[in-house]
Amino acid sequence: MDVYKNAANVIKNSEILVVTAGAGMGVDSGLPDFRGEKGFWKAYPMYEKLGLNFYDCANPVHFRKDPEFGWGFYGHRLELYRKTKPHLGFYILLDWIDRFGFDFFVVTSNVDGQFQKAGFPEEKVYEIHGSIHYLQCVKPCSAEIWENKEKIEIDYGTMRAKNIPQCKNCGDVARPNILMFGDFSWLSSRSDRQAERFENFLDKNKGKDIAVVEIGAGTAVPSIRFLSERIGNYYNATVIRINPREFMINYPHISIPDTGLNALEKINSFLK
Ligand SMILES: [Zn+2]
Repeated sequence: MDVYKNAANVIKNSEILVVTAGAGMGVDSGLPDFRGEKGFWKAYPMYEKLGLNFYDCANPVHFRKDPEFGWGFYGHRLELYRKTKPHLGFYILLDWIDRFGFDFFVVTSNVDGQFQKAGFPEEKVYEIHGSIHYLQCVKPCSAEIWENKEKIEIDYGTMRAKNIPQCKNCGDVARPNILMFGDFSWLSSRSDRQAERFENFLDKNKGKDIAVVEIGAGTAVPSIRFLSERIGNYYNATVIRINPREFMINYPHISIPDTGLNALEKINSFLK
């Protein structure tokens, strides 16, 4: 049995497409996935010297106590995501949506905005951990979330930011509207509205044949995997789990031990 061909048949015979994506989705665009300390330090050698891992850096405390440090890390990621071009896999998914006339939704734990950059409409994306392209107050002094148009200059020798975005209401530090580790001040209203749109979408499509294409969602932060499985259990849905390492999912769902782009291209070859 060819898993790619099986996956192609599921897609061909579905009416609805749900794309669920984790950090593995960005890897083929050249983005780091911060897998383990080694993976993180490979992307950020400076933090190895400082003895800091991803959990230490992705912590909201820095924006209060040492915003130059906080924005050193997030400012670098902001620039990186701004200049990254989404890989061909994003466009294969868009092509399927167009070709098969799918109603669709994207759910991602990535904060990089790559789906919107590839052309997925804003109202069809649910970013469960928020987005680096939006800001909020560090306190926060209000519930406002606004678009991040700041350009952050960074000293790459120290990984410290030379300029700090300010809250447009109180002038205190502005931070990315992203859920960090141990984060109690993240404003979730933008993400909550996306979640509501997504739940309405699922309600509307109950009973229809749904293909869930899950790409690069690991077990370390398993929310995306749980979501795929929830849809797989309660809806008339088949989950296609694409992951080079953690690919297991129970029949009748489909496990594909592969990277995102490779798997999407191979599935697509059966759809020509
Ligand atoms: Zn403020």
